[in-house]
Amino acid sequence: MSEKKPFEIARETLKQLTVQKLLPTPANYQAIYNEIAGVPVVAPFPADTLRDIAKSLPVKTPGQQKQRGLLEYAIDRLNWEGVKNALVAYGSFSPLTGGDEAAATTTKVAVGVGAPALTTEFFGQMGRLIEHTQPALGTDDERFGELTKNLLIALKQSGADVFALKTMLGNYSDRVSFVAEDQAEIKKTLLKLLHLVFENIAELSLDEQWLHGQMEALMSAATPPLTLRRLDDVERRLKDVIFKQKDAKERAQQAQNEMREMLAMFIDRLSDMAKSTGSFHEKLEENARQIEQAKSISEIAPVLKEVISATRNMAAQSKTSSEELQTMREKANQTDAEMVKLHQELDRVSTQARHDPLTGALNRKGLDEAVDREMSSVRRKETPLCVALLDIDNFKKLNDTLGHATGDVALTHLATVARDCMRPQDTLARYGGEEFVILLPDTPLDKGIEAMTRLQRELTKKFFLAGTEKVLITFSAGVAQLTGDETGADAIKRADKAMYLAKRAGKNRVVGG
Ligand code: GH3
Ligand code: MG
Ligand code: MG
Repeated sequence: MSEKKPFEIARETLKQLTVQKLLPTPANYQAIYNEIAGVPVVAPFPADTLRDIAKSLPVKTPGQQKQRGLLEYAIDRLNWEGVKNALVAYGSFSPLTGGDEAAATTTKVAVGVGAPALTTEFFGQMGRLIEHTQPALGTDDERFGELTKNLLIALKQSGADVFALKTMLGNYSDRVSFVAEDQAEIKKTLLKLLHLVFENIAELSLDEQWLHGQMEALMSAATPPLTLRRLDDVERRLKDVIFKQKDAKERAQQAQNEMREMLAMFIDRLSDMAKSTGSFHEKLEENARQIEQAKSISEIAPVLKEVISATRNMAAQSKTSSEELQTMREKANQTDAEMVKLHQELDRVSTQARHDPLTGALNRKGLDEAVDREMSSVRRKETPLCVALLDIDNFKKLNDTLGHATGDVALTHLATVARDCMRPQDTLARYGGEEFVILLPDTPLDKGIEAMTRLQRELTKKFFLAGTEKVLITFSAGVAQLTGDETGADAIKRADKAMYLAKRAGKNRVVGG
């Protein structure tokens, strides 16, 4: 800094202006003055020009308006730093960059002022959203896969170009709409196909009574809304059906082959017999001729001998054939018995499977597995599980008055109505003759009781006809909510006790256990 006094600097400045032959403009004066005073040369603050610029800045968003105000404030205070900050921030509020929420974003993501982390986080979030939706959109469309990959890379880059990203997102969103539509269509078509397959299986197995209950249950299990639990049910049922069909087919094939072999043997024997009786006839005719032409008994004697031996042969052959035919008949009867056994065995296999053939509900084995599944889900998610046990009222009387077949229809009817009014995640199982267990996941006791009361109401609305007679079914039920350390079997026992109380209290009611 110069030690000269201001008036000395001023005098010297005027002198230098003359010496250097410079025009005495304020700018020249200032420059020479600063030089003599040893002050750094700083360009004058162009407040007016800056104010003009500020005025002409468009304000399309509240953020832009605020920043323009800050810019004018900084200009008034001749504050370059303030001008710079306000202009940079103003840029980030361009509608192109996502508006005010994108706070400090500029066209280059990382250049933002104040909150670049928010922007990176925003793009990161968008990337994760795209990644998470990926599995639902499949991998069939290669171009879409490529587009997604590039978009994800761009979103992860810290200096992402917002304009390029905008174009990429536009393309992605167009493509996503096609892909999502495709996937929905594929799902619908696959379901239709599945139903067709089920219908076909049912038609091909017209004589297999046990299949019909299974097929109906399969159809309803494969009806939207689909849940993983329902699909799991479809898979299990289908496995049962396939297993039983395969078994039946192999055995039927075996029986058929045996029959075919026997038939072939029978035809062989028949033709053998025809041949030997043919030669027997020829022999007899020849012998008859010899006897006619014989002139003495001595000539007849050897001929008779031949006749006797031929007849003996014939009788022996007939005996063999008849014995063989007898064996074959026995074999045929045996095969017949085997076919009967096969059907009995199919019924046995059917009970070994997880579903009750009459109602299509789970059987005890299926129920045990379902209870295990629900138990582990309860332990994992800590959600309430209700177990309901219902027993049809006066079912013996229904059987006695309307017949066992109508009793069977009543059981099937109850299962159908129960399935219709249950949620997809609930499980219906036939626990015994006219007793059913319903598992109600994510359900506390009061809701479980409500659900069973709702089923009672449904049954009073949906009666069925036995001939012309309306048959109304009622039941008594007990409901228990699984407690912390209880097993599924314990909870069913408690529900059973509650059901017993419902019977004691006059039937046709639901009691909580
Ligand atoms: P409650 O109201 O006390 O329950 O009396 P209930 O007559 O319903 O009960 P009970 O236990 O005396 O009789 C049950 C009857 O259910 C006896 C049995 O013949 C019949 N049953 C069991 N399984 C079947 C089946 O598959 N079909 C038919 N039609 N009847 C069955
Ligand atoms: Mg009973
Ligand atoms: Mg009963």
